[in-house]
Amino acid sequence: MSVQLDKETEITEDELRAAQYFHGHKCPAMPQGLRAAHLAMDILGVKRARGGGELKAIVEIGDHHFSGCFADGVQFATGCTFGKGNIVKDPLGKFALTLVDPKTKKAVRVSAKYDRMKMCLEMPFFEKRKRGVPPFELDPKDVDPLIEDVVTHDWHDMFDVRTFENYPVTKATESFNAVQCADCNEMVVTEYAKELHGHLLCQTCFSARVHR
Ligand SMILES: [Zn+2]
Ligand SMILES: [Zn+2]
Repeated sequence: MSVQLDKETEITEDELRAAQYFHGHKCPAMPQGLRAAHLAMDILGVKRARGGGELKAIVEIGDHHFSGCFADGVQFATGCTFGKGNIVKDPLGKFALTLVDPKTKKAVRVSAKYDRMKMCLEMPFFEKRKRGVPPFELDPKDVDPLIEDVVTHDWHDMFDVRTFENYPVTKATESFNAVQCADCNEMVVTEYAKELHGHLLCQTCFSARVHR
């Protein structure tokens, strides 16, 4: 399916700054996530999620590998966040985002092109990162041009895009029910509480009683 995109949303200086503040350092992977996210939102014709039910993001990054920062750019741009529960990680060790619009059941998967990622990996920024230099200690001259390129380069060279119709969407309602755990006295959402001999317990206290 060919992708129709009249105008791509530009990443403004303000958005980049704010996203870098949220993320914690300057790197090329976070802005790559911003770019992929805006591209996906532009193709779907959707705005940033305000609540948990509006968009769903699936990121394919895994744990402890280069460019995982991609996911923070996705969170910042899409509004799909850990707290709202509308982002999930499908840990495949890949640099791809699938964005789903639950209203239309349309989805788009944006994945970073191999050649482009390979080229980035061979740059001084990653050479130094490989040697254990943390990103916040790197000379801005190693990272600023890379960021500028990630933010402005023609997306066709950066990403492959696939679109989906009728993407499977599961609806979940938000719970406002909670109980007090009989042992630790902390609040626990009812759906997560367990009953033992007539007492409602959080799962931690439940396990403690069962294993003692
Ligand atoms: Zn980063
Ligand atoms: Zn408890």
